[in-house]
Amino acid sequence: MLEVKGLTIQFRNDEKEYSVVHGISFHVNKGETLGLVGESGCGKSVTSLSIMGLVPTPPGKVVAGEILYKGVDLLSLQEKQMNEIRGNEISMIFQEPMTSLTPVFTIGRQLDEGILLHTKLTKKEAKARSIEMLKLVGIPRAEQIYTSYPHELSGGMRQRVMIAMGLACQPQLLIADEPTTALDVTIQAQILDLMRELKEQTDTAILFITHDLGVVAEMCDRVIVMYAGEIVEEADVDTLFHDPKHPYTRGLMESIPSLEEKKRRLYSIAGQVPPAGSVIKGCRFLDRCDRAMERCAKDHPELRELKQGHTCRCWLYAE
Ligand code: SF4
Ligand code: MG
Repeated sequence: MLEVKGLTIQFRNDEKEYSVVHGISFHVNKGETLGLVGESGCGKSVTSLSIMGLVPTPPGKVVAGEILYKGVDLLSLQEKQMNEIRGNEISMIFQEPMTSLTPVFTIGRQLDEGILLHTKLTKKEAKARSIEMLKLVGIPRAEQIYTSYPHELSGGMRQRVMIAMGLACQPQLLIADEPTTALDVTIQAQILDLMRELKEQTDTAILFITHDLGVVAEMCDRVIVMYAGEIVEEADVDTLFHDPKHPYTRGLMESIPSLEEKKRRLYSIAGQVPPAGSVIKGCRFLDRCDRAMERCAKDHPELRELKQGHTCRCWLYAE
């Protein structure tokens, strides 16, 4: 359904250009949930924005690659054509619902607008659809919430509204960028349950962007691990959790605290991601890798298939 090929995204500051995403390729199949994992700054959010045609230009720019959606390169579309796809065939839910909802309009008006823009429904039908969507995402007293303003809702409710908006036009592909990160653990669990149910009911493909491996385990079929603007490992979720290969992925796995602990964040790998724009000849993970060899400083490892569907970018698996 979606095929990203050789995507390279650059940013520019003070007359200097630097890549934040380095020629990444991946695909999302119909009805599947693909996880995109990595620490903040690894390029995952800007990758998802590029699919929506929303990379802020300037300073950002897609400088190479293709984003094929049902065989059409989204990068070649005019803004008007992209508008027809955005919010309709492909929609996105963001981490911070308060910044994505307009404070001065009611929830109902914002939901209706999206539906009216992308469907042939009348105003009355759009309202009925909006209320139905609010009910579908588990919002009690949907008729009342329809007439409420965003600030009258809790964070969890606002995030449900965002999901309702994301799904109102029955997208084929939903991009969810850290949709539960800002929420407390109980609400997070409820929203994830909800998304799983919706996925089963609607067969929507999901690109799920997160730094939380617990969420990946619950939600995803396949996973891509990104580090410093590159894909370093790709596998189905079982393989990734039971047989991670890349030292970075392994580090992530070890940094998952036990199940009893509530926080499942990626914070315990020593060192830092190389700053964007740094020129690196060898492996981009070199400074943080406890398995590094001489070769790693000199040559940049390629992504290599270890077995069908499992790829890894590391010299340890060169043979
Ligand atoms: Fe570590 Fe070398 Fe593999 Fe990079 S290529 S992850 S430095 S072992
Ligand atoms: Mg992000």
